[in-house]
Amino acid sequence: MLYEFSAGGVLIKDGKILLVKNPSGVWTFPKGIVEQGESGEDAALREVEEETGIKGEILQKIGEIEYFYMREGERIKKKVVYFLMKYKSGEPKASWEVVDAKFFPLEDAKKLVKYKGDKEILKKALSLAPLFPEKL
Ligand code: ATP
Repeated sequence: MLYEFSAGGVLIKDGKILLVKNPSGVWTFPKGIVEQGESGEDAALREVEEETGIKGEILQKIGEIEYFYMREGERIKKKVVYFLMKYKSGEPKASWEVVDAKFFPLEDAKKLVKYKGDKEILKKALSLAPLFPEKL
């Protein structure tokens, strides 16, 4: 078994949620591999900006999810840590790593996210959001 550790963000701007369409065609939260010596927080901010062009600021850790997938016949166990982020600057622009990047009204985002872990993370993020009333 191989192991991977990534970090990502649930970034909210005026009540809208930033999502990316991944190469599998699934709307999800921007994320990516945590590099050696890098903190989860720094990786999450870097990956959100690299994938979407949006700069954020971390408000709080949301939690971690785990899933398995196969790559070239190898089973990979992946852990992803997510942070709640507020918007700082930029307009969404998909990088080469993703098919699309966009802000969605909350109700649309709830319907669009398909992965079980994403649904859990969105639910937790929305339960934390009232702690930051002026920022999100
Ligand atoms: P990273 O974005 O961390 O650099 P990656 O793009 O190499 O990673 P993943 O996004 O983990 O790889 O995708 C690998 C496989 O896992 C794909 O088949 C993808 O559809 C699937 N996948 C991605 N996110 C999830 C998730 N939250 N739950 C379950 N499966 C997922």
